[in-house]
Amino acid sequence: MTRAVFLDRDGTLIDDPGFLADPAGVLILPGVLDALHRLQVAGIRRVVITNQSGIGRGLLTPTEVGAVHAEIDRQCAVAGVSLDGWFHCPHRPEDGCTCRKPGTLLHTRAAASLDIDLAASWCVGDRLGDVAAAAAIGARAILVRTGDGRDHESAVRDQGIPVVDDLAAAVDLILSAPATT
Ligand SMILES: [Mg+2]
Ligand SMILES: [Zn+2]
Repeated sequence: MTRAVFLDRDGTLIDDPGFLADPAGVLILPGVLDALHRLQVAGIRRVVITNQSGIGRGLLTPTEVGAVHAEIDRQCAVAGVSLDGWFHCPHRPEDGCTCRKPGTLLHTRAAASLDIDLAASWCVGDRLGDVAAAAAIGARAILVRTGDGRDHESAVRDQGIPVVDDLAAAVDLILSAPATT
């Protein structure tokens, strides 16, 4: 089994313009590629789990979302970085699915397909739902202040969950923390 970081996409890995359909609009946030590289060197898997309700709302097609992910993969590859998996929820909040974060269906699906030890893994994101999923799967969590992070900061702090400036700082914390397995 292997450790993983479950990464949120919008506001954590890339700038979030809202319902991004055009790969030309992909803007990877500062420090993200280096942070991913450090996880890669440490042998920690990098799995993206993202709520893409724009599909369910009819604002995005699955093909457009796939093209955005292909562009992120391409920019990562240029920097010598790879992502181990992409998992997205296409539903609207009111659909009541179990894959939209804070639901954990995508995390458990990823864990099964990539042989991930959830208790030794982390969830990193810019919203309460990203870190709430961590508690449900027995993983640790970190909120980043990029994206919508500042709006969620006080609620997350109240739960005793660490809040850091960005993904680079989150990776600092992950790599300095004792491994649980
Ligand atoms: Mg986000
Ligand atoms: Zn869903």
